[in-house]
Amino acid sequence: MSATETSSKTAFLWDEKCFWHFGGNYAQLAPVRGHVQPMVAGGLPEAPETKRRLKNLLDVTGLGDELLMTGGKSVTYEDALRIHTAEYLGEFKQLSDNNGGELGLRTPFGPGAYEIALLSAGLVKDAVQSVLTGTYKNAYALSRPPGHHCLPDWPNGFCLLNNIAIAIESAKVDKLTDRVAVLDWDVHHGNGTEHIFLERPDVLTISIHQDRCYPFDSGFIEQTGLGAGQGYNMNIPLQPGCGHATYLEVMERLILPTLRAFAPDLVVVACGFDASGVDPLSRMLCTSDTFREMAVMLMELEDLRLAVAHEGGYSEVHVPFCGHALLEQMSGSSVRASDPLAERLERQQPDADFQRYQSKRIGEMVDFFGFT
Ligand code: ZN
Repeated sequence: MSATETSSKTAFLWDEKCFWHFGGNYAQLAPVRGHVQPMVAGGLPEAPETKRRLKNLLDVTGLGDELLMTGGKSVTYEDALRIHTAEYLGEFKQLSDNNGGELGLRTPFGPGAYEIALLSAGLVKDAVQSVLTGTYKNAYALSRPPGHHCLPDWPNGFCLLNNIAIAIESAKVDKLTDRVAVLDWDVHHGNGTEHIFLERPDVLTISIHQDRCYPFDSGFIEQTGLGAGQGYNMNIPLQPGCGHATYLEVMERLILPTLRAFAPDLVVVACGFDASGVDPLSRMLCTSDTFREMAVMLMELEDLRLAVAHEGGYSEVHVPFCGHALLEQMSGSSVRASDPLAERLERQQPDADFQRYQSKRIGEMVDFFGFT
C-alpha cells in the first residue's frame, strides 16, 4: 500500500502478547486471603478478554478489513526512563525476570510482564508517531497493560507503565510535536498522567471521570495545574449515575472549547470504556453510542490529529461494542455492529430532573473554568 493510501486509513495496533499479561490471586478487586474465596474463573477485572474480544469483533464484522491492522515496536528502556525512575524499572524487570510479583496497588504481574509492558507502551508510541508523521489518518492502540494511573515510581490501578506519557515524551524528543492534549475519558481519574504533566504548559491534561471512583483522593476540579502548568490540567468529576446526555454536554460545553483554545498538534485519548452502563467497576450509564458520539464531536475539531490508547473497561460483553462504535467513526466506515445492550441501557438513562441537575452542575464548572 502506498503512503498516500495509508494516510487515509485508521491504524489499529495490537499484539497477541499483550493478552498474555497475567498475575496475582484476586477475586475481582479483593486479594484472595482471609474470608475471600478464590474464583474458579476470572480474578482481576483487568483481564485479556475485554480487549481480545474487541479485536475479534472487528474481525467478525469486517470492520477490521477496512482498518490497517498492524503491530508495534516495544519502547526502549531509555524511552521508559524519561517518565519512570531507574529504581522502579529495575525492580520491575528483576521481578519479571523471575516469577513475577506486585510492586504497587492491584498491579500483579507474571514472568515476562516487563517486556509486555514495554510492548504495550510501544503500541501507543507507534500510534502517536504514525499520526504525527501523517502515516495514518488516525490510530488506535489496543494497549495492555493500561497506563493512565501509573506514577513515575509506583504502579497502581492495573497500570505498570504510563504508556501515553512515554509516547508523548518520545514524540517530543523526536521533535514531532510541541503541544499535545490528553483527553482521558476512562471512568477513573487519570492521576498518573496528571501527575507527570502537572507543571507543564505544553501538555494539556483533561480527565472526565466518576467522582472519587479511583483513586479516592484525586481528580478534584480545583487541581488546575502547578507552576508553569497552571491552567493546563482540567478535572471534570461527575456524580455516579450520569449517562449519555451528560457526557455529550460535558464534551460540548467544557472539553471542545478547551481543546479549541489550546490548539494542540495532537489529541491523545486515554480511552477507557468503563463508563459503560454495565461496567462492574463504575456506576455510570454510558452506551456504545456515547463513545460513538464523542468521537463524532472530536473529529469535528479543525486540523485534528487523533491517537487513541485503550485504558480500562471491564465488561467483556460491552467493551467490544463500545470500541467498535468508536472505530466506526474514526475510520468513517459504514460497517456496524449491533449492540445487544443498547436498548436496555437506553431505557436506564437518567430522568429529566436528574439531567437538569447535571446541566446545572456543568454550568457551575463552566463558570469555574472561566468560559464565557
Ligand atoms: Zn478505568
